[in-house]
Amino acid sequence: MELFWHRRDLRTADNVGLAAAAERADGGVVPVFVFDDNVLAHASDVRVRRLLDGVAALRDDYRDRGSDLLVARGDPETVLPELADALDADRVVWNRDYSGLARERDAGVRTALNDAGVDREAHHDAVLHTPGSIRTNAGDPYSVYSYYWKKWTDRETDSPAPTPGGDALVDADVLAGAIGAGDGSLAEGSRSDGGVATDRVAVGELPALTELGFAEPDAEIGPAGTEAARDRLGAFLSEAVFAYDAARDYPAREATSRLSAFLKYGEIGVREVYEATERAMAAAESDDRPAEHAESVAEYQQQLAWREFYTQVLYHNPEVVTENYKAYEAGIEWRDDPEEIAAWKRGETGYPIVDAGMRQLRAEAFMHNRVRMIVASFLTKDLLADWRQGYEYFRETLADHDTANDNGGWQWAASTGTDAQPYFRIFNPMTQGERYDPDAEYIKEHVPELRGLDADLIHEWHELSPTQRANAAPEYPAPIVDHSERREAALAMYKRARGED
Ligand code: FAD
Repeated sequence: MELFWHRRDLRTADNVGLAAAAERADGGVVPVFVFDDNVLAHASDVRVRRLLDGVAALRDDYRDRGSDLLVARGDPETVLPELADALDADRVVWNRDYSGLARERDAGVRTALNDAGVDREAHHDAVLHTPGSIRTNAGDPYSVYSYYWKKWTDRETDSPAPTPGGDALVDADVLAGAIGAGDGSLAEGSRSDGGVATDRVAVGELPALTELGFAEPDAEIGPAGTEAARDRLGAFLSEAVFAYDAARDYPAREATSRLSAFLKYGEIGVREVYEATERAMAAAESDDRPAEHAESVAEYQQQLAWREFYTQVLYHNPEVVTENYKAYEAGIEWRDDPEEIAAWKRGETGYPIVDAGMRQLRAEAFMHNRVRMIVASFLTKDLLADWRQGYEYFRETLADHDTANDNGGWQWAASTGTDAQPYFRIFNPMTQGERYDPDAEYIKEHVPELRGLDADLIHEWHELSPTQRANAAPEYPAPIVDHSERREAALAMYKRARGED
């Protein structure tokens, strides 16, 4: 028997570690998810809600296959050796997580299992091409995306890993017998007298959000699990992907895949996604299709590569979570005005596209990519606030928060990252709104105070007089800062940091 430890891979399909364990395990595989208090200490209502939904979907998937998911709570360094001992498991298997914190945790688990005399094995699963495998000709990690992409796209990719059949999994009743019924509760509790702390391990029973110390978020979070991910991928690849290149920047259109949270929690495997995009590419390249179709599929594949690019940036530079990737000669003197930052969080800056984005985030725990870039630019280059403030807020509120992508996105916007936007490129939030939401559909959807106005008026909001604004939308705020002034201040701030003033 082998124990498979699920973490950010909440699926049975295309799961490299699970497939390896299933192929080999004599006596079947026992899957386990551990609610780790050290990880929960850094989590948020949104993320734990989304995680619980994903774990529930995984549990149901195992149940459909005649098995079940063991759900434990505690420190994996204690729980896993204990479980391996109680179940007489030969080995504990998992898939790697590349962030610095996760790697520290895994090192601790490895040591604990070694000390307990239990074999263990870690697989690469979350990416098509592992962080160390794509390097410059001099052997260094890439810091420029376009070169990385070239090598990424030229490489052979693995096919999806096989899904284990029901006979490779330990039966649900055998599991229940082995673990004992416990009291079904995963609230923090003391160890039982048995070999395993049964009051903290249950067969298929999930803890309630409140038992884990979190509250139901206000945001309406989308569906979780492999089936929902496949539905979304299938719908996207049947049509929208062929127009992705031209449409992806327009937040009012449903032009992107919305797979980010599924990929973050590993509810769909990246090999499965990529293989499906290759089929779409073959369709796009058929004779009677316009060239944009194939270009659009390639553009979509480029986004999957951005995810892997930032994964390898974080892997090689774990410190970027809190530090600028790019060193400036002097520290950047961020402004950090709490009232302005609070208005940004509330979506009350008086810049309609910024406010629409921040309100979409609150309502859906999601924000469109173009708008993420706009609000991040606004925070760092109009409010002159430290990107870490924005990163922390996104980390708390996004259902798809992913350390590598979120950090990469913020450092790009703040001009402190690898391939960052040059510091002197500062988005004008009014022009961005006009260009990417010309009819103000997205703005009106998220900012009800502006619903009755013509798009033209919305895009001129910063130029209206106080009386005009009061007549047009009395509830909606005037711009909290003057973009032109702040633009100059931002340029000066960066120049000082670069030693150019
Ligand atoms: P699609 O356009 O359909 O892209 C497909 C997939 O490619 C995404 O699901 C995602 O996994 C990946 N991807 C797309 N764009 C990027 C990108 N720029 N960088 C890395 N991967 C990308 N993405 C996250 O997954 N988690 C985050 O926490 C996150 N934070 C961000 C913060 C900022 C400030 C910015 C500018 C971007 C951030 N992104 C993040 C990247 C991007 O905005 C989201 O991945 C995308 O909006 C998700 O929507 P989608 O699945 O419809 O994307």
